[in-house]
Amino acid sequence: MERTLVIVKPDAVQRGLIGEVIARIERTGLKLVALKLSKIDRETAHTHYQEHVNKPFFQGLVNFITSGPVVLAVFEGPNAVSIVRKTMGATNPVDSVPGSIRGDLAISLGRNVIHGSDSPESAEREISIFFSPDEILSYERAIDNWILERD
Ligand code: UDP
Repeated sequence: MERTLVIVKPDAVQRGLIGEVIARIERTGLKLVALKLSKIDRETAHTHYQEHVNKPFFQGLVNFITSGPVVLAVFEGPNAVSIVRKTMGATNPVDSVPGSIRGDLAISLGRNVIHGSDSPESAEREISIFFSPDEILSYERAIDNWILERD
């Protein structure tokens, strides 16, 4: 079963959008398997965003993601990475369609409310940065037969 990392970014926490963002992903049917409120330190931010280290926006991005509390979550389910990326919308809110989290809730590229892993490989790497294995729960939901096509 695929997993993906979601970060409700500091702007969304300050704006009181934690519940809204998590609820939109929960409603897809993906299963929430880990969740915590945390503050990302600069070293961890560098590790998480290592692919952007040479980009002009890198320092601003690190300043922003370390600027206040975030909510870290792991969602699990078939195609979890793609489902969350679709629910998030495009990186730049100018291009995110209405109905997506960024399309509805953001207007600035550098204040775009949510992070979601961009591939299953990134998801595994990113989840291991923020969660130990014992923080990720394995459980059944009574409703799963109505969400998952198992036969
Ligand atoms: N970002 C930015 N300026 C840019 C490009 C990206 O501030 O020119 C920020 C933006 O908040 C984005 C994050 O850097 O969410 C990571 O960029 P990425 O291309 O990985 O987008 P994402 O996977 O978050 O959609």
